[in-house]
Amino acid sequence: MPKNQQYKLIIVGAGPAGMTASIYASRYKIPHLIIGSVIGGAAVEAHLVENWPGEKQIKGADLMQKFWEHAKSYNPAYWPEEAIKMDKADDGFTILTDAGNTAAAPALIFAGGTQYKRLSIPGEKELLGRGVSYCATCDGGFFKGKIVAVIGGANSAVMAAAELAQHASQIYLIHRSELKAEPIWIDRLKANKKIVFIPETNIIKIIGKKRVEKVELDKPYQGKTEIPLDGVFVEIGVAPLVELVKNINVVLDANGSIKISEKSETNIPGIFAAGDATSGSGGFRQIITAASEGAIAARGVFEHLKERGLI
Ligand SMILES: Cc1cc2nc3c(=O)[nH]c(=O)nc-3n(C[C@H](O)[C@H](O)[C@H](O)COP(=O)(O)OP(=O)(O)OC[C@H]3O[C@@H](n4cnc5c(N)ncnc54)[C@H](O)[C@@H]3O)c2cc1C
Repeated sequence: MPKNQQYKLIIVGAGPAGMTASIYASRYKIPHLIIGSVIGGAAVEAHLVENWPGEKQIKGADLMQKFWEHAKSYNPAYWPEEAIKMDKADDGFTILTDAGNTAAAPALIFAGGTQYKRLSIPGEKELLGRGVSYCATCDGGFFKGKIVAVIGGANSAVMAAAELAQHASQIYLIHRSELKAEPIWIDRLKANKKIVFIPETNIIKIIGKKRVEKVELDKPYQGKTEIPLDGVFVEIGVAPLVELVKNINVVLDANGSIKISEKSETNIPGIFAAGDATSGSGGFRQIITAASEGAIAARGVFEHLKERGLI
């Protein structure tokens, strides 16, 4: 029998933003439901997290388990499901899940995160976390003295190459066309002797048994189509997972991220958003920024409900 429940708040996404929003909502005594099938979101993919204050080094999955234990200690309702439809109702919003359950609430926090754009080539999925990464800030430190490739040509790729140059001994920046990064970044790139730019070239395969060992190119570089290396950073952009909110005309910015106010509210009163899916932290997508936005969104919801006499 499908569930049909009413709450004061629904949080979509159980990553760092969603779980932090839940902790704060619990402390504001807002009865709420969390919907999300992956506890911990993208952060469970982090091999080691070394930038969460108070934890010098911790596996992403272990840190997320701590978040979850904390959120769960307040007994929020939790559905391990996917929200597949969002609609406006007279007195708020309704969500339909892939299990056929529906929930309604006068306020909603969308914390659906982003999806790193994938190259979709052989070896990418198989070697994720074993040399393949989508986050230079997070994983660059594991490549001290190693040779890595960054795939991409926009700002994020060039910035990742510059960041990796602090750790790696050599960085190949491989892009299918010319660089599209800001000129100032291109100047910095040219000035860095560790970074070698390989233009007009596609990477077609990532090869390795236990870890990344080499990549295959679609045309020769210095006479060879294979480059031996230790890591591949895919920096071809992220796609915010915003299909759900697009349905009710939540405004996005030019990058497809959800536009939010300083209270983490979207253009639709009652719908808040937090974490990697938003424009909130200037594109700095980290656990700490997601958690911060989750906290701000919960406070925004508290004020929203209180102003309307709903709590
Ligand atoms: C390999 C890797 C390593 C990283 N390392 C670090 C690090 O060391 N330090 C650091 O600070 N950051 C790191 N990050 C970045 C960090 O994980 C993200 O910035 C953070 O997880 C964003 O949190 P979020 O809650 O906004 O989104 P997410 O963590 O992406 O969580 C959102 C969740 O919502 C779910 N969702 C989306 N749509 C729906 C829907 N319709 N219904 C239900 N659920 C939905 C998603 O599936 C996802 O599980 C790393 C990321 C990766 C991929």
